[in-house]
Order: sequence, then C-alpha cells, then structure tokens
Amino acid sequence: METERTADDVFGLLSDEIRLDILRTVALAQHEEKRTGVAALSFSDIYDRVEVDNTSKLSYHLGELTGTFLRKHEDGYAFTHAGEQLIRFILSENYQSPPDVGRIETDGVCLFCGESALQATIEEQYFTVRCAACERPAFSYRVRPAQVRAHTGTDLIDAVIWEQASDLLKTQQDVCPDCAGHLETEVVDAEDEPVGSGVPVAFAAISECQQCLRQLGLPLPYAAAYHPESIAFHWERGVDILGTGFWEFHRYLNDGRWSSERVETDPVEYRVELQRETTSLRLYLDANAVVTRTERVQRRDQGERRS
Ligand SMILES: [Zn+2]
Ligand SMILES: [Zn+2]
Repeated sequence: METERTADDVFGLLSDEIRLDILRTVALAQHEEKRTGVAALSFSDIYDRVEVDNTSKLSYHLGELTGTFLRKHEDGYAFTHAGEQLIRFILSENYQSPPDVGRIETDGVCLFCGESALQATIEEQYFTVRCAACERPAFSYRVRPAQVRAHTGTDLIDAVIWEQASDLLKTQQDVCPDCAGHLETEVVDAEDEPVGSGVPVAFAAISECQQCLRQLGLPLPYAAAYHPESIAFHWERGVDILGTGFWEFHRYLNDGRWSSERVETDPVEYRVELQRETTSLRLYLDANAVVTRTERVQRRDQGERRS
C-alpha cells in the first residue's frame, strides 16, 4: 500500500527545475499529439525532449514524480489528478499577478449615491466594481490572472459574470467550486455576517467547504435568484439571471423589489420575494437555503392573486 504524502513532501518534489521541465514536456507532447490520442509519453520520448545529463538521472526524477504528479502505465507516463491540476496552473501562469485593465464602464446603480456610474477595475488582484461618483465599492470577486489576460473591456466583465454563475450553480448543489468537496450552507442574519458593505438585506446565505475552507457569502435573495424557477421566471420577463453581475442586482434590494424575511421559526423558514413588473416570485427556503417550494403572485392594487 502506498503511504500518504504530506503537502511538504509533494511541494518538495517540485523544487527541481528538471522535474518541472518533465511535467511541461508531458503536457506539450499530449497537446501536440492529441489527434493521435496519445495520452502518455514513453521514457525515451521524455529523454529526447528534456535536458538531462543521462538516463539514470531522468529515471531518478521520473521515479520521484511518479505516484504524485505522474502515473506510469504500459505506454509510458501520464498525469495524475494532482499533476493535471498543477501543470494547468503552471502553463496558465496563474501564479503571476493579473495585469491592470484600467477602468471598464459597467451597468448598475451605486447603492450609496444612486448614480449609474459603476466601473470595474482590478484592485489588490481582485475584480472590483466601484462607483466613479462617490468612490464606494459595489462588488468584489476573485479573478484568475489568465482570465484577465484573455479578456478585455466588457468581455472581462462577462467572463467574471459567467465564472460567478458557475460557482453559484455548483454551490446550490452543495459542491465546492474549488475542490468539488462538500459545501455546507446556512442562512444567517446579515447583521451578524455582512455580505458586502452597504448591501441592504436582512438575511444572507453563507456556504463553506468542509475540505478546502472556501467560503461564499451572499444576500439570500441572490442565492434564491439562481434557483431554476427564478431563472425561468426572469427569462420569461427578459432578464438573464445567469448573465447578470451581482452588482446589477443591488438596485433591486435598494428599491425593495427583492427582499427576504423569516416567516417561520419552528422549523425555521425564510421567504424571498423577487418582484418583476406586476408579478412576484416567492421562494421558501429552509435553514440551509434549500428552496422547498415556490409560488407566483400577481400584484394588483386591490390585493394579490396566487397562480
Ligand atoms: Zn456612488
Ligand atoms: Zn473546497
């Protein structure tokens, strides 16, 4: 049986330039030969491509990498799961800082001053939306350097929005967007755990990965907005939830069109209301932010009619 490696051991393996070269070589060869379906590289192929003094030295380094970053089978060497992750990180140069992108105009209204003057920038390596009128922040989300290098202008904004949407869809299934481990979500009072400065909301959904400790916190109406019923409800009314940035949702909290409240205490139940024109979608959520039922309500001056 293989002994389990510690993080120290694993990263120690990479402190040698030849080993990084071997990993790059396997990736490039796979890329070049993808049409032939070759997934592994033989010892002699690697020896031809990597600058190393002799075969016994190569054999030593391959031995060190095998089991952690490479796996050996009949045809030669291929990546393990960890090797695959690592080589994508190295080739994409996501260890560099993201480049500066200047200021990109984006839609939405400032929560603080009400101006439609939001601009996206990269600040402290984070994608940040800030109001140009009052300089207050509206939104911040992580970006990867490769993402920023590959997209400019509104294209970058779209890339962040889709990244955020895919993170949220996984979160709804209790899947960690980073490690695919188990996420646990609970609804909390937003006074205790604020989700962004100045966001006027009563409740928030906080999700935390039990394995890699990734945490995501967002206003409860936003978590509910990604429920399929809400995506359909908005789509029918010309709004693409998956293609909209959180900072564009802020205005709905501000004017009260989106709200959350606790409607039951034993067991606890929350109701999120998402209003669009004359119709409201109500989503009922449990303590773990799971939607248990929904209803559409027609808003009329003389009262409400459920559908
Ligand atoms: Zn402002
Ligand atoms: Zn995780």
